[in-house]
Amino acid sequence: MIIAIDGPAGAGKSTIARMIAQKLGFLYIDTGAMYRALTLKVLEGKISPEDSNRIIESAKSSRIDLRNNPDGSLRVFLDNKDVTAQIREPFVTKSVSLIAKIRGVREVMSELQRKLGKQGSAVLDGRDIGTVVFPDADKKFYLDANFKERVNRRLKELKELGQEVTFADIETDLSNRDTMDSKREFAPLKKAEDAVYIDTTDMTIEEVVDTVLKKISDNG
Ligand code: C5P
Repeated sequence: MIIAIDGPAGAGKSTIARMIAQKLGFLYIDTGAMYRALTLKVLEGKISPEDSNRIIESAKSSRIDLRNNPDGSLRVFLDNKDVTAQIREPFVTKSVSLIAKIRGVREVMSELQRKLGKQGSAVLDGRDIGTVVFPDADKKFYLDANFKERVNRRLKELKELGQEVTFADIETDLSNRDTMDSKREFAPLKKAEDAVYIDTTDMTIEEVVDTVLKKISDNG
């Protein structure tokens, strides 16, 4: 079974996807982490974000692995190196949407995501899972929340990771990424027609998890 969870940054996708995967014993595939790992490689390799050809080559020759731990956490490896913490750094976040808009990059990542998903049952979270990567997913969700709430959630998350960020920093980041991710030419962020829309603004994590689990067990 494939479960697709899409939506903008800060809507709670990764927390919910991870919990659903753990509860159902499915693989959790954080597709944003894959774009982030490639972005880290591009920036470390001093490749210009404009140099699409080199970036696509880099995507093709990179090894990106996601390892699920029994406690539900996920570790991300780039060319066999653990980059779990680094890919959440602001310099990566700032550039990731520029890298993710390149068509050839999306082709490489989508193929990898399909391969991983087909290994067994999986929950994938991202921007284009229900629309492009797995248009035939068994269940699709689109998680959303109002802008202020998304900024607050991301702020809390990054502070917990030890980053010194302000509300204004996150506001800028989310609004830039919302625009770039939803206006790009290939696989923009949008709700699949058959996805269940959930506004999580006033919901607790448990309420969202319950709603998603109920929809998954409904046969319809
Ligand atoms: O989910 P996360 O916020 O970590 O994603 C980082 C970025 O990766 C997004 O802002 C978007 O540019 C890109 N992304 C994407 N398609 C996906 C997942 C993430 O373009 N399926």
